[in-house]
Amino acid sequence: MYSFQYRKAKTLQEAADWLAKDEDAKPLSGGMTLLPTLKARLAQPSQLIDIAGLAELAGIENKNGVLTIGAATKYYQIATSPVVREVLPALAALISTVADPQVRNRGTIGGSVANNDPAADSPAAVLALNATVITNKREIAADDFFQGMFTTALEPGELVVKIAFPLPKAAAYAKFPHPASGYAMAGVFIAQTVSGVRVAVTGAGASGVFRWTEAEAALAKNLTAAALEKLAVSADDLNEDIHGSREYRAQLVKVMAGRAAAAISGKK
Ligand SMILES: Cc1cc2nc3c(=O)[nH]c(=O)nc-3n(C[C@H](O)[C@H](O)[C@H](O)COP(=O)(O)OP(=O)(O)OC[C@H]3O[C@@H](n4cnc5c(N)ncnc54)[C@H](O)[C@@H]3O)c2cc1C
Repeated sequence: MYSFQYRKAKTLQEAADWLAKDEDAKPLSGGMTLLPTLKARLAQPSQLIDIAGLAELAGIENKNGVLTIGAATKYYQIATSPVVREVLPALAALISTVADPQVRNRGTIGGSVANNDPAADSPAAVLALNATVITNKREIAADDFFQGMFTTALEPGELVVKIAFPLPKAAAYAKFPHPASGYAMAGVFIAQTVSGVRVAVTGAGASGVFRWTEAEAALAKNLTAAALEKLAVSADDLNEDIHGSREYRAQLVKVMAGRAAAAISGKK
């Protein structure tokens, strides 16, 4: 680990000011991705600005058909929240599949969304549910937010403050986890929203989370696993590594999509 200065911000404005004054400073939330990166000397920030305790980034609120979750809300708080379990159980279920209890007790939804790991779970929910990422500067639609592997629409120093999820009519997530880390080899989140069915795939795409539009069209007509039987995911843009080939991941996506659709319809 290279040396750095640690500073704990007392307000969102203070954190934003410190980040604006130093382009090599980085926000620190749960540290579950950032600290291993520093330990491996893959990053050399001048300062870590601790935003984990900021009141502006905390809280879970269900109002007017929108569930809003503060960026620094820890995974375990979301997975165990009676509000999330009641109004958006698919999100609580997704979050409970992230990693292990140790990571869920420190990791945050805002850190995950800002990091945009191609195998992370939360981006699939954000994209499928057509959520809005609210930063300290603007509101960004999910379709515009995720821009490729570890790349988002966030500008340097811009902070995710909260994420607003419009409540769907129905939703489900199915994931084939990597057996060691829990990250998604393939994860599919299906949401029946007011503007139609949206299908987001994580873990499989070489460029990160993406929408499977052919499945969306098929499920809009018939929201059951049977609607996916004749579809195939192209392996061309999928990820290939020691854990699985592109073709294997393409098959996993189809199987996970079928499971998520069956969870919604109650039919295999
Ligand atoms: C062993 C292990 C297993 C894991 N398994 C899974 C898994 O199964 N599924 C999964 O989805 N994830 C998994 N993760 C990753 C985990 O979810 C991380 O917690 C998450 O990716 C980052 O959240 P964090 O709060 O720890 O962010 P940090 O590590 O603090 O930050 C991550 C990055 O985001 C930036 N950042 C943080 N918060 C903000 C903000 N509010 N605004 C702007 N930028 C910000 C930081 O500067 C940094 O660049 C795993 C991690 C570990 C260590």
